[in-house]
Parts: sequence; structure tokens; C-alpha cells
Amino acid sequence: MEPAIPEDVSQYFIGKHEVQECLKGQSESDLHTHKINCKKNPGHTGFIPAKKFRKEHLPPGYQDSDVYDVVNGEMYVTVRITVKFTSPHRPKFVVGTQDPYPCYSSRGKRLLRTGTGKVDSVYYDKEGVNKCPCPECETSIKPKKKFAHIRVLTARHVIYDSSEASRASCRLWFDDDQSPVVNIYGWKAHGSSPTDQDWTILVCLTHDLEIPEKLLNVIRRFRDVWLKANEKYESRVEVDKLAIIVSHPHGCSKQVSVGRWVHRQEIGRYSRYTYTACTCPGSSGAPVYKLGRTDHPHSGAHASGSNYSTAMIDMDYSCGGEDLNEKRMREHKASMDGFLPY
Ligand SMILES: [Zn+2]
Ligand SMILES: [Zn+2]
Repeated sequence: MEPAIPEDVSQYFIGKHEVQECLKGQSESDLHTHKINCKKNPGHTGFIPAKKFRKEHLPPGYQDSDVYDVVNGEMYVTVRITVKFTSPHRPKFVVGTQDPYPCYSSRGKRLLRTGTGKVDSVYYDKEGVNKCPCPECETSIKPKKKFAHIRVLTARHVIYDSSEASRASCRLWFDDDQSPVVNIYGWKAHGSSPTDQDWTILVCLTHDLEIPEKLLNVIRRFRDVWLKANEKYESRVEVDKLAIIVSHPHGCSKQVSVGRWVHRQEIGRYSRYTYTACTCPGSSGAPVYKLGRTDHPHSGAHASGSNYSTAMIDMDYSCGGEDLNEKRMREHKASMDGFLPY
């Protein structure tokens, strides 16, 4: 029998980015209108509001506390990103291709757009030797001396560089329209990938030290919960290919979508995925949880309706992602002299 010719899956990774772009004069109060007028998923029946997500929304065979606890952790660290500026340095094309780069035509403009991100880690200035560089403290006669850096993993086309990062903010715990408003300031883009890999770290600031404490409590527990689910379902990872996304479609409150991953493409030491879990404009940068794999931020949607991720290192879960996390910690520590991880 002839060996099967491997399918060229690269075509499935070219499509439309999924930031929610607003028109001139529009503000956050117009985001609901974008949601109502959605053409991709009218009615949004494939999305479950975060507050209503229950075990029963998981596929049969997964309706226990293991995967549910992972999704709860993902929900806690997922943030809505808003940015009010488009960098003049955005390129016309994705590097090495003729694919148009998102928001090129908005360069230098002050238009609102939204995306999603996931808190990756938290650092703070233990020494208290630096002044908080947030916009509030910059203009205050009593700037805070204790503050934290909160690192948010997202897509690079959401936050292209530091000129965008410094005009961004992240809303935490935006689970429904009644959720209290908790924002942290965007500050810098850090360690951005090339545009074809499409991920970046948005470094944010807060001097409300309750926020990093709350996040760290969940981040510390999350790794154990994540490993437990991976171990329990190890034999089914490649069979069921469970994929779950937590995002802020249209910049509105947090939603969960459940599906499967379909293709995996390796590009050097990186990989990217396609999946069936629903996404909409505003979902760019959202964590795509794939059981047994590391999360990749969401990147875009192919014309066929399938969605695709950014390209990142894909750790085997048996390494627990620890090597990658430690590498990130080391890199960050080196770049943020004077700041120590919790
Ligand atoms: Zn939609
Ligand atoms: Zn401050």
C-alpha cells in the first residue's frame, strides 16, 4: 500500500485576524452593538457565558472536576484587552509572505480595538526602590513605591509593540455585565515573536497589590490541576483532541467555547493548531486550552470556518511546561533588573 501523502495544512493558517476593531468615534459602549451585529456567529449559540459554565458543558467522558477545574483556572486568568492606538511601525505584510498584516491601514490612528489575553506570571518590586511608572503615579505627588508587573500572553497583532502596549489596558474578571471593573495598565511589549508566529507578552502594571496576590493564588494551584487532568486523560489526548477557549468576543464579557483541535503544524521548534471551538472578533490572543498540550494564543479564522492559533513551543505535558516557564522566568528576570518573582 502506498504511504499516504501528508496533507499540506499550511493553507488552514491563512485567514482573518480576530481583533474587534471599532470605528472612529466609537467607544466601549458600542461593543454590544458589534456583538448583536455579528456575522460570524449570529446568536453566539456556541459560546457559554463564563458565569454559567458547568461540568455538563464538557463533552461526555469529561464531565468531572478535573477538566472543569482547569477551565475554571483558565477563566480566572483570562483578561479583556483594550488598546486605543495602532503603531506606525506595523508592517504591510506578515513577514516572509504576501499576507496582509492586521490593522496596517489604521497605523498611527487612535481607534479602539479589543482582544483577549491570559495572565502568564506576576512580579513585583520587593525592594521598593523604583516608583510605579503607571499613568496615575506619573502625575501623582505621592507615587506608589510598591507595585507589580503582570505579564499577559496574547497575539502580537493585538499588541504589536510598546507604543500600543502603553496605550492598552486589561480588564480582569469581566465575567458578566455586573462584574466590578478591575483594570490594570498596559506598559510594554516584551519578547515579541516574529509576525508569522504572532505572540507577544504585554507587561502590565498595578499598585493595587491585592490583584497580584489573587492571581498568584490561582497560578500556583493551576499547574497541579493541569497536570492532574493531563495524566488522567493521557490515553485519549490524541483521540478526542479536546480544545476549549476562554475569550472576550466583541470585547464583551467572558465566554467559553468547547470543541476539538484538528490540525497540528510544526514549524521548526514551534507548532500551531486549528480547532473547531468557536471564536469571534475580540477573541484574538485568547488561551486555547488543548488537553495534554500547552496553551497557544488564538490568532485567526480560516474562510472554511476553522480557527487557528499562533505558533509557539509545544511542550509535551510530561515536562509539565516547566522548562518553558523557567526559561521565561529567567529571561524576564534578566530583563527586569531589580524585580524578583514572587
Ligand atoms: Zn460574534
Ligand atoms: Zn501606579
